[in-house]
Amino acid sequence: MEILKKVLKLRLGDDKFKTLSNHVKNLDDALFSYIIKRLEIYESIVNKYKPKVRPALDPYVSSELGIYRRLDDKEIGEFLGYPECCINSFINGRVVIDEEHMKELKEIKNCHAVVLTSGFIPCSIKCQRAIKNKLIGYLSYEDFEVILKVEEELKKNLPHYHYGYTEYYEKFII
Ligand SMILES: [Zn+2]
Repeated sequence: MEILKKVLKLRLGDDKFKTLSNHVKNLDDALFSYIIKRLEIYESIVNKYKPKVRPALDPYVSSELGIYRRLDDKEIGEFLGYPECCINSFINGRVVIDEEHMKELKEIKNCHAVVLTSGFIPCSIKCQRAIKNKLIGYLSYEDFEVILKVEEELKKNLPHYHYGYTEYYEKFII
């Protein structure tokens, strides 16, 4: 499901993410409209370029919704469409791209770059479910150029001041 639809569902009431949903229900109309507007811009860029890997959520939106405060790790993963194997690996302590991931990256050949959705930590760089969910991509030069374009467009059209989160992708040139 697209993120825009998920946020609209939260506003109406979503029992699966009750705390977050209650917060979204109580946001004032002007702020909620602004969040929706940003999500529409985000989705129009994604639909225009159709990148092989999906970009991270707009930091302004995740911060206003308070996703990282109002959801636990399992719920965040479910909300963002992460596979269960990767959610479990994160909960069990693999919360950064570590040496094991880097070792896997060194074994990959026949592509220009490996790209991950920023903030997503997979159970393995080779996780087939993450690849299927467009959270990891083994990209050709042309597909990687699309990723750079998407990132540039998002930065240009969705300015924000969350300096800690400036990238929409983790990029590894092979
Ligand atoms: Zn996985």
